[in-house]
Amino acid sequence: MTGTTAIVTGGGSGIGRAICHRLAAAGFATAVVDLNADSAKKVVEEITGKGHTAAAFGDVDVSDRFLVEAAVERVRDTLGPPLVLVNNAGITGFKKFLHITDDVWDRTLAINLSGPFFTCQAVVPDMIDAGWGRIVNISSSSAQSGQQYMAHYVASKAGLIGFTKSLALELGPQGITVNTIPPGFVDTPMLRASEEHGLLGGSVDEHADRTPVRRPGRPDDIAAACAFLCSEDAGYITGQVIGVNGGRNT
Ligand code: NAP
Repeated sequence: MTGTTAIVTGGGSGIGRAICHRLAAAGFATAVVDLNADSAKKVVEEITGKGHTAAAFGDVDVSDRFLVEAAVERVRDTLGPPLVLVNNAGITGFKKFLHITDDVWDRTLAINLSGPFFTCQAVVPDMIDAGWGRIVNISSSSAQSGQQYMAHYVASKAGLIGFTKSLALELGPQGITVNTIPPGFVDTPMLRASEEHGLLGGSVDEHADRTPVRRPGRPDDIAAACAFLCSEDAGYITGQVIGVNGGRNT
């Protein structure tokens, strides 16, 4: 895959950062797209320091179609047409159902679901031109199980799973695969922030004790599966929900 351009949204932190490292090590010219310009830049410095190719695209809010289209245009100019897209940027949130405001609901769906819609519409034409493409949407295991106090988040991620399946059927004939990884309980800044605010229903360690493999997930667990789905070898896998969750959801 040397030289093929990959875009990773939310690439500045946690799971997205690990995916950027994996894809760049596999030879992809990796566009680290994030709302946070500093963290995107830092990840690019880490990757280029290892001799791989990456460029930072900061201040990109995936819920803003205009910003997404402008960023994809800059990626095309800098690294070439993107043929791999990982929709990883997302926000979480815990609220009792009756306390979910319209603003919280709209913002969660705008980032977690409309974001992938905008990015896909921006890059799929490049993939169709090339007759090849890979899209991986990072959803959540909570969309498989349901999760109390997270109706807005779970609805957005369940929507992303349906979006993945539909796009896979439509784009398969054009050489484009579309899959989703629903992570479960991965040790990232997002998870630790939830722990700090007492929103996990127990500590990370307590959850690890209840997880079949007896540890929290690592960002690289998700990145490894994602890199495989982006590879040539994964060409017969599309429309799939590939759980990476230590056995918490089977
Ligand atoms: P994280 O550490 O918070 O990283 C998320 C990254 O996305 C951050 O760099 C964040 O920037 C960026 N981001 C947030 N809103 C954005 C926006 N509107 N536009 C562009 N970038 C934005 O989270 P993570 O745990 O790695 O999660 C990554 C993905 O996995 C998310 O979609 C999440 O829902 C999903 N997931 C995670 C877990 C888990 O256990 N960690 C479980 C299930 C699903 P800022 O730093 O500026 O906020």
